[in-house]
Amino acid sequence: MKSRERKYFFDNKVPRQESNPELNLLVGTRQRASAEFDLSPAKVLSCYSPRESERNILIEKAFPNGHAALRETVLVETIRDRKNWGKFLFLLSRGGSIKIMSPFVHAGELIAPCESDFQSVADLCLPDRILPYGGLEKLFLEISSTISEFIDLSQKDLFLVTAFILSIWFPDCFQAVPYLWIVGALGTGKTKLLRLLHCFCRRALLVGDLSGASLYKLSSLLKPTLLIDEFEPGNSKKDTDMLRLLRTGSVPSVPAARNGQLFTTFGAKVIASRHLPVDTALASRALLIRMFPTAKNLMPLDQAAIERIADQFQPRLLMFRLENHSCVESFRIQSVLLESLSPRMKDLARALAAPLCGNKKYTETLLAILREHDRDAAIERGLEPEWLTVEALFRLCHEGMADDRLIAEMTVGWIAAHINGMLKFRGEDLKFTARKVGATLKSLGVKIESLGNIGRGLRFTSILRQKTHELARQFGFDRRNLAPLSSADYGNGGVPCALCEDFGLTGGLRFVEFRRERPRVSRPNPRGPLFSKRDRI
Ligand SMILES: [Zn+2]
Repeated sequence: MKSRERKYFFDNKVPRQESNPELNLLVGTRQRASAEFDLSPAKVLSCYSPRESERNILIEKAFPNGHAALRETVLVETIRDRKNWGKFLFLLSRGGSIKIMSPFVHAGELIAPCESDFQSVADLCLPDRILPYGGLEKLFLEISSTISEFIDLSQKDLFLVTAFILSIWFPDCFQAVPYLWIVGALGTGKTKLLRLLHCFCRRALLVGDLSGASLYKLSSLLKPTLLIDEFEPGNSKKDTDMLRLLRTGSVPSVPAARNGQLFTTFGAKVIASRHLPVDTALASRALLIRMFPTAKNLMPLDQAAIERIADQFQPRLLMFRLENHSCVESFRIQSVLLESLSPRMKDLARALAAPLCGNKKYTETLLAILREHDRDAAIERGLEPEWLTVEALFRLCHEGMADDRLIAEMTVGWIAAHINGMLKFRGEDLKFTARKVGATLKSLGVKIESLGNIGRGLRFTSILRQKTHELARQFGFDRRNLAPLSSADYGNGGVPCALCEDFGLTGGLRFVEFRRERPRVSRPNPRGPLFSKRDRI
């Protein structure tokens, strides 16, 4: 059996220029400079015909030279040579034609997959051929059923993991790639799932104990799907580096600078840990998969099984990428389907839905699962300063409406006290200072001004009230967040508010105008809010 110990991946997407029928490849090992790539004399080794079996190799000149070419993209993938396991080949795909070429010398430069430089890093799972993938539904079901033979996941998580696998074969098509965060206690099979994902993912690289520098270098050059096991970040430099890599790596064009060099950390990641990510910004980039101890009789994932699965799925998934690349790249999900999702979840939904190529059943299932994840994430986000501050403003904006005593002015310190009161009521052990709340208000675009001798604060003008409602809409709050649970359960929202109606923040509640006898108000706290008559709300 061939060794599968070394695995590296590299590809490149080369736009073909109308004016220049020659191909420019940014590929090379000894010199990583762009090199002109004249295909006419190049070795055309084989061309795959989807109608034939993999053994029927068609020799043809897939890329005629010297003709006015259409503006097309040539996908360049690295695959293994079936006859020589240690050797890499180029696979070029353009408009349905696929050609396999060996590395070659051009103008004195060796043009070869850059994986050749990383043979010492052991962990290699490149496809060595392409195979018909059998249609989206067949591929999807086969991946799901293979995973469920080895791992006990809920149906929803299984669906999500399968959609994730398909999605990460198209990292160059998205504005943001999804992360998968596997959480579970000891012995729940997290590592087993990572090893299984290694067989399915594109350019998967299982990270054990890599230094920060190697991590950046590998990530930048190989553009792998990083599979990170036992990620329990502490305060060490390596953990800090890893956290930075993770935060910057979900979107393209945010390079990291190390030792005077720029590295691209963009790429899908799978992280296994015992605890949920504390970093909310990082958590919002990830799809959470929970693992529990199981009594199910599952198949062991030994080396033979790993090789069999990789051999079975890598060539099909590569074909899936090549055949659907342009469709996935141009796919735009209807924005109406993404309503009610947070901006980050929308990015994840776009990346996960595109490879489903408009399959209605799968897209609907996916969006239903993502909405559930988004609701869970919203609860976590609720403790972030921006969310707390907007919630406090939205709440204070409606305070006193029942008895016509709206707040007119309030200090930043008083808003901080209000937030801390909310947190204490909810049993949270967080506290915010006035300085922190002031900085958050500024970052939200809320103007802070001097309130004379009582300090700095806000004047609740009609403009600020509008701004508050706008922020509430952007941050996903509505009147359900303000109504007591007992009232909201019966559909009662309290006093009506025209701005809530205008901004669509009623949350489906009923509102009733009622007047209360104005109570005698004592203001023991001189820094408390000042009230005004109810005006135009
Ligand atoms: Zn309102």
